[in-house]
Amino acid sequence: MSPKALDLDRIVKVIADEMRQRTDRGKVAHYIPELARVDPRQFGLAVIDVDGKVAAGGDADVPFSIQSISKVFTLTLALGMIGDRLWRRVGREPSGNPFNSIVQLERERGVPRNPFINAGAIAVTDVIVSGHQPRESLGEILRFMQFIADDPAIAIDQAVAASEKRTGFRNTALANYMKSFDVIENPVDFTLGVYFHHCAIAMTCRQLAMAGRYLAHGGRNPSTGLSVVSAERARRINALMLTCGHYDGSGEFAYRVGLPGKSGVGGGILAVAPGKASIAVWSPGLDEAGNSHLGRIALERLAQATGWSIFG
Ligand code: GLN
Repeated sequence: MSPKALDLDRIVKVIADEMRQRTDRGKVAHYIPELARVDPRQFGLAVIDVDGKVAAGGDADVPFSIQSISKVFTLTLALGMIGDRLWRRVGREPSGNPFNSIVQLERERGVPRNPFINAGAIAVTDVIVSGHQPRESLGEILRFMQFIADDPAIAIDQAVAASEKRTGFRNTALANYMKSFDVIENPVDFTLGVYFHHCAIAMTCRQLAMAGRYLAHGGRNPSTGLSVVSAERARRINALMLTCGHYDGSGEFAYRVGLPGKSGVGGGILAVAPGKASIAVWSPGLDEAGNSHLGRIALERLAQATGWSIFG
């Protein structure tokens, strides 16, 4: 049963208050210099239910770098472009390895295990780049984000993109390695340029929760009724978020939160309560696996308080 709108406001406020007082925040990502400068004391939470009612708390209107959460949306776009042929280029199995790992690529002939580890997301971005100029592909991704969030103000943080490009040696290695197996079709710097920029899209929790509505409501935008993807595709994207969305922390996230979720090293998490709500949380400090430490705890609290779980 969905909690009453009033209860949801209260639940979100109580969680935001608790999280802002905690001092066990994890560590902000340091390997992208621009992200290392973010104040770890910030916390935001936004929940949008099926009626479009928003419950928001803390820094829910402060933009942050969505990083790997963008991979959910590039996956959606690439599936829209080439459908199930995408699965020739990327797998659907959890990796059990860190998000930037290279080890499995050799055994699997350059085909990444899933679309959410860096190698897999770079392969997905390459699909979007094919047949276009990098600038057009990036424009398409950004327009899609603006469309599903219903907010034309969403933009790329160019300083974050440049910072990652300067220091992205490991992603460059992954892309070159995949290119050697012909898994990447385009010039490596084209694909990586688009990848770094879509990771650098800046959004608030409120905007991100808006963007995630189609995953919570059978592929549709619940306020317009318009279909973004088919219900079946939304279900499948949710399945991948559950099994792979938190890298080698995906099992723990499923156990504790029980909802599909996708994290980013900016400290954001998009979570989906099917049929109930789209949820975005942000706390910049990360745990060992590179997932938001307090973000996960906040979602665990929310799931407990609302009873939302895909496991009954
Ligand atoms: N842009 C980041 C990277 O490629 C994304 C990683 C993440 O958010 N987990 O390293």
